[in-house]
Amino acid sequence: SITLPGGFGRAFVLTLREALEGAADDLGDLDRRAGDGDFGTNVRTAMKLLDATLEADPPTSYREWLTALYMAWLGVGGTSGPLFGMFFRDLAKAGEDAGADVPTVAQFADALAAGQATVQRYGEAKVGDKTMIDSLDPAITALRAALEADAETSAVEALFAAEDAAVEAATATAQTTARRGRASYVGDASQGVIDPGSAAMALVIGSARAGADG
Ligand code: ADP
Ligand code: MG
Ligand code: MG
Repeated sequence: SITLPGGFGRAFVLTLREALEGAADDLGDLDRRAGDGDFGTNVRTAMKLLDATLEADPPTSYREWLTALYMAWLGVGGTSGPLFGMFFRDLAKAGEDAGADVPTVAQFADALAAGQATVQRYGEAKVGDKTMIDSLDPAITALRAALEADAETSAVEALFAAEDAAVEAATATAQTTARRGRASYVGDASQGVIDPGSAAMALVIGSARAGADG
């Protein structure tokens, strides 16, 4: 089974923190055009809460890094706060049953799928409803396909395939109409606008890919 490096949790979370900070304004603009405009603020609040934890109680393991991340998101309002919070809580459990300190790529894929199921259980969105799961679902499919196609593939390569699928699917949400969340209130006005949650989810997958590099 394909392993992830010992520093995966740290690299994943710190890369994601940078990526979300850098994208917060653009994500907020998307939510302003097709939603209620608070997503950028929600992202910033989550990262501020994360920073406070990293300073007060520096994580030392994959599970602690992901716990700091999910606790930060659970402290945020909106729909995305609890949904990303519960999603990252599932990621924090990756490989736990097998007693792994750091998950394998297959265990990470299983945790992503568990996270998707949790988000769908609470948020009741289907793939295609213009939400964060629109980029997550194809990313998991691509990740599992990469593992199945080549047992010798590298973690980075497999996660690159997942990232590609996520970015493509996030971009394609511009062509869909929102059926969940605040964006559904604006109806067809969400046409032409990329769903910010799906774009953020693509950054999550891309950060995992970067984290797999060391
Ligand atoms: P709110 O809609 O409450 O203002 P945010 O602006 O924080 O929430 O987050 C918006 C993002 O949350 C959307 O771009 C979408 O991807 C995601 N989202 C909204 N509702 C749902 C849902 N029911 N299931 C999954 N994701 C959702
Ligand atoms: Mg919003
Ligand atoms: Mg809101």
